[in-house]
Amino acid sequence: MSSVTSILADFATLSRAEKNTLIKCLASMVSVSAGDLGKYVADERFSGGVACPHCGGRHVVRQGHRNDGTQRYLCRECGKTFVPTSKTIVSGSRYGLSVWEKYVGCMIDGLSVRKAATVCGIHRNTAFAWRHKILGALQKMADSVKLDGIVEADETFFPVSYKGNHRKGSFVMPRRAHKRGKSVRVRGLSREQVCVPCAVNRNGLSLAKASNVGRVATRNLHAVYDSRFSSDCVLVTDKMNAYTRFANKNGISLIQLKGGKAQKGIYNIQHINNYHSQLKRFMYGFNGVSTKHLNNYLTWHNFVNYAKGSAIDKKAILLRFSLTQNMVLHVKDIAKKPALPFAV
Ligand SMILES: [Zn+2]
Repeated sequence: MSSVTSILADFATLSRAEKNTLIKCLASMVSVSAGDLGKYVADERFSGGVACPHCGGRHVVRQGHRNDGTQRYLCRECGKTFVPTSKTIVSGSRYGLSVWEKYVGCMIDGLSVRKAATVCGIHRNTAFAWRHKILGALQKMADSVKLDGIVEADETFFPVSYKGNHRKGSFVMPRRAHKRGKSVRVRGLSREQVCVPCAVNRNGLSLAKASNVGRVATRNLHAVYDSRFSSDCVLVTDKMNAYTRFANKNGISLIQLKGGKAQKGIYNIQHINNYHSQLKRFMYGFNGVSTKHLNNYLTWHNFVNYAKGSAIDKKAILLRFSLTQNMVLHVKDIAKKPALPFAV
């Protein structure tokens, strides 16, 4: 007898009251966004009053309910209607809050798509889409991070990977494919290495973004670091002229060391070196990250590995932030990202 048949046979033996209780329990287990997910988003998103997700307007009135019971609102400023989850990554989701919570937990633990899908009972493609939706929202938080105090900065490199670009048909690879897992043949600063300027301060706050292929130029440093350091910070780097020009232009104090274990008083570049090792370990866990998604993975790493806060705190912050941001990202747009996330 299949398990469903045997459960149904047991079900038939229950009293009417027991059947009703069980049906309610099952309904809450498979709740849709109309239920707890919508309520969670409404509570968190509208804690300071209801604001229109289309225009930000505050002149909002209730306008009945959707068929599934969700409160609908009308914005008197732009004339559009919305529900609490409109323009968030969970808009239209058929999964309940508990599944999203579990998934966010998997991200804090750095699980693969496959493992996260198993833990949450969702399809692998759904797990992949959620990963990039959550990271897309998190990118907004990352972009507002400003480093103060002693800030150590240095670039690191990742091999260019066109993984995930081949299905489109029109994509022509600019070079011959590498065998999976094989490292790039030309070592050093070739055009097959993505340059990622990174910075970390003594509180463990960090930022990193893919800037170019090959050797870094001053303009690449400006693209990543401009307005990301507080004006009274002290920047510590190795002896590279691009940093001298960058710091002069931005009026930032700069201390340059010979590299490696060199230090000058309280200044050294150990924190950025440790940061790079930690980042590489994190990336290796994903078996080759496609360059078009590299910035998402950098953001993910920086959030999970931020020195402060427990895993439980991070889970709650990530859940609240990613589910309540104004953010629309369709699955088809995730795949359509440009192969290199910067102008070349
Ligand atoms: Zn509006």
